[in-house]
This record gives sequence, structure tokens and C-alpha cells, in this order.
Amino acid sequence: MPGIFLEAARIFRDSDELRYKRGHARLKYLVAERGWQWVRDELERRLGYELEHDEEIVNPVGALHTDHMGVGEQADGLYYVGAAVPRGRITGEQMAAVAELAERFGAEGRGEIRLSQKQNLLVVNVPKGNVEALSKELGGIGLPPGAPRWRESLISCTGAQFCNLAVVETKERAREVLEHLEREVEIDSPIMVSVTGCPNACAQHQIADIGLSGIPVMHEGKKVDGFNILVGGCLGENPKFGVELVKKVPGRLVQRVIGALVGNYKANRIVDADGEVEAFSDFVMRHEAGQLRQWAAIPEWTAGAAKKELRQA
Ligand code: SF4
Repeated sequence: MPGIFLEAARIFRDSDELRYKRGHARLKYLVAERGWQWVRDELERRLGYELEHDEEIVNPVGALHTDHMGVGEQADGLYYVGAAVPRGRITGEQMAAVAELAERFGAEGRGEIRLSQKQNLLVVNVPKGNVEALSKELGGIGLPPGAPRWRESLISCTGAQFCNLAVVETKERAREVLEHLEREVEIDSPIMVSVTGCPNACAQHQIADIGLSGIPVMHEGKKVDGFNILVGGCLGENPKFGVELVKKVPGRLVQRVIGALVGNYKANRIVDADGEVEAFSDFVMRHEAGQLRQWAAIPEWTAGAAKKELRQA
């Protein structure tokens, strides 16, 4: 499997016509330009064997923004242990420690680390008898497998610190948002929050439950980092892009808006007889924009109030 990722990266590396156009230096543009079939065929050519083909795109069913966090059994009877990496930032010391843990606790010669699309990590191929000790050691280096659920589904793009296209800083903002939410609002299922530094959407804010898209704003007479806030995006059986709830919220205030909205989601969502709770994106689609804005406690200063109706006919 790692060979596939390496060859996919090499296909992108060799696409000079895209790589040197800074604004289009993304694998997604290559797929859009050449088509996914071309990418698949090129991947097979480089790998030297055929992959399993399925012409239909099958959307995942069930929980919308889950990751393989905590402990789970693999198909081969070994276990994985997944740990949330807050806002996708990990230190060199933590990386070296995780590598050592994967080697020490993985099955003989099979200790491996996987990185997830939600910026988290998993140690895989762990024998059952090693799971508890590994989980404890991960906790000891600041990556506990049982961390609060906000951590597993809040992601952030690189932002102004390392990206020339960014219009706002993201990683520190994501840390502040995460700390606020972990302190103020407990959740029982993952709610994906994406903090994105410009409209290029590397943190996929359009398919997040709550997506922040960076934009500079004037606040109290100064130009500061701000965000347009989108809500209700998701993948799954009925994929949809999030819709704009409010524009140009100053950065230091976004966590209050998110906290208030999620608090009201918890108080007003539908819970069926089996205890299944309504997904955040379904909750958003079930309510009018005005009601959501009221629940989000959006203050007066947001001159650019949401103009689009959230409910689709
Ligand atoms: S979304 Fe983030 S990482 Fe992507 S180009 Fe914009 S600022 Fe850079």
C-alpha cells in the first residue's frame, strides 16, 4: 500500500505544467485536468499491476466525519491505535517517539504508522496484548487515544506561517478555537471544523460541518484576520457543500459563534427512539438561516450578514 501513495506523489511531481503554476500546484487540479481514469491508469502503469476497478463512486454510509481513532480490530486480528493530533501539529520529538513505539509495540517486523485525512495518526499491526501499554505511552507523549472528540475532527491548513497564498494565520487560530470548544462544549460525536487560510480550501472547509475561510476584516478600526463561516457541509450518502452563515467574523470571536451554535444543536437536535442523534449537517438543513444565526449568537458587528437561505427547497 505505501507504494501506491509514493507513486501517486510521483505522478504529481512529474506534472511540471501544474507544479510550476503556484495557484494550481495541487493534485486535485491534475485529476480535474486529466480525469480520474487517466490518473488510475498512470498509477497502474507505474506500479506494474492492475488495481481493483470499480467504475462507480460509492459514498460512505453512516457517520460522516469519523476517523479511525481509539482502539479497533483489523481484519487480520491485529489492532490499530489511533491518536488525534490537535490541528495537525506534531513536534519532532513526538514523531521520533511514535516511530519508536510503533517498532516496540507492533507485531514482529510489522510496526507501522499511518496518517489520516483528518490530520491524525494511527499505529497499526499491534497485537492485542500490547494495546494497553501502547495507549498509555501515547498518552505520555501528549497523544492520548481517548482525547476529547473535538480534537479528532478539527483540522487546519498551513496558513500564513508557511503558505504564500494565505491571507490569514490558521494554526494558532485553530489552537484557540480547539481550546475554547474543549473547555465549553462537550460533544458525543465528531463535528468537523476546518480552519482554512484562503479560498483554495486545502483544509476542505466546504465539506466541513463548520468551515472557516480566511479573509482580512476591519474590526475596531484595525485590519485583522477574520473568517467567513460556512455550515452544514458533509460527505456521505447525501454529500453537500456548506452554505455561508455569516461573513467576515473577526478571528478572535469565531470560537464564541461556533460554541453557541453547537450548544444549541445539542439542545435542539432530533434523537430517535434508538438514541441515534441527528447529524449536524441535517440539523443545519432543517432550520432557517435566521434561526441558526440567532442560535449562533452572531453580534451586531457582522455587517455582512448571511444573505443566502440555508434551507434548500
Ligand atoms: S487553503 Fe491554506 S494551505 Fe491552501 S493555499 Fe490557502 S492558505 Fe495555503
